[in-house]
Amino acid sequence: MIRALYIGRFQPYHNGHHYVINHIAREVDELIIGIGSAQMSHEPSDPFTAGERVLMITSALHEMNKPVYVIPLEDINRNALWVSHVRAMTPPFHRIYSGNPLVIRLFHEAGTEAFTPAMYERATLSGTKIRNRILQDEPWEKYVPLQVARVIREIDGISRIRALSQDDGDGSC
Ligand code: ATP
Ligand code: MG
Repeated sequence: MIRALYIGRFQPYHNGHHYVINHIAREVDELIIGIGSAQMSHEPSDPFTAGERVLMITSALHEMNKPVYVIPLEDINRNALWVSHVRAMTPPFHRIYSGNPLVIRLFHEAGTEAFTPAMYERATLSGTKIRNRILQDEPWEKYVPLQVARVIREIDGISRIRALSQDDGDGSC
């Protein structure tokens, strides 16, 4: 029995994440998806709440025929303790997948098998690029699963992303 963890911020969950997760799902029995920087929202690089990201991911993966646990993970800003923090918040897991070299390093040092999946169509499938497309009113829906586009529209995410880009120059609320 292999239970694996995949971590990302998913601002938003897009077809690159979806491709990788479907690939990983073929290699494992159960999947945990950790939503990083869970406390962040309503910022240009982190527009969506953890709850909204849970909804995007669970909707997009509703046809997965294996158990999937979607767990928000807040930042603790203390790298040496981060693996323990993640382990305290998630079901027990045997390996981790991440594209973030720091995440890979921290789990490797803690003795957990850590893998870096290959990037898939990264030229277009990147959270930053998709947020920019939404901001610039360019086509973006084809870069996310259908269910994610639906959630973004349901929560009025498009006008939120545009409003967040209008900085009053103060740098705070
Ligand atoms: P952002 O631009 O906001 O950082 P992102 O597209 O990099 O968004 P993240 O949530 O930061 O997405 O990344 C989560 C995980 O998904 C990371 O491990 C990242 O390397 C991986 N990832 C992101 N885009 C792709 C892609 N196109 N193909 C495969 N993996 C991807
Ligand atoms: Mg990223």
